[in-house]
Amino acid sequence: MHELSLAREILEICFHESMEKKIKQLNLRIGELSSVSPESLLFYLENISENSCLQGAKIKYEIIEASLSCDECDVNFKSDDWICPYCGRTIIEYGPGRELEIESIELIDETNED
Ligand SMILES: [Zn+2]
Repeated sequence: MHELSLAREILEICFHESMEKKIKQLNLRIGELSSVSPESLLFYLENISENSCLQGAKIKYEIIEASLSCDECDVNFKSDDWICPYCGRTIIEYGPGRELEIESIELIDETNED
């Protein structure tokens, strides 16, 4: 059920960001390791969006692959042995892959900047 509370949070953010304008499209980024089920998140979003700024909006999401990150080289990469392919250090940091983010909100209004 935690997708329902996430959906509520997202709707809340959309409400503030859209300044009461209607949303045309919502773009999300969902990390592979975020333990969020995109299907159930979308299901709840559609369910709670009635009569809100999100009603009728297209909701798209991008799955972000899990990866490791090297501070030294400032790169993200995939590796099974936790070794940075650029500098050879052993990496103990996760890079992207755990996020659930709103990438962008497109409003039904020609005044929004691209
Ligand atoms: Zn490195």
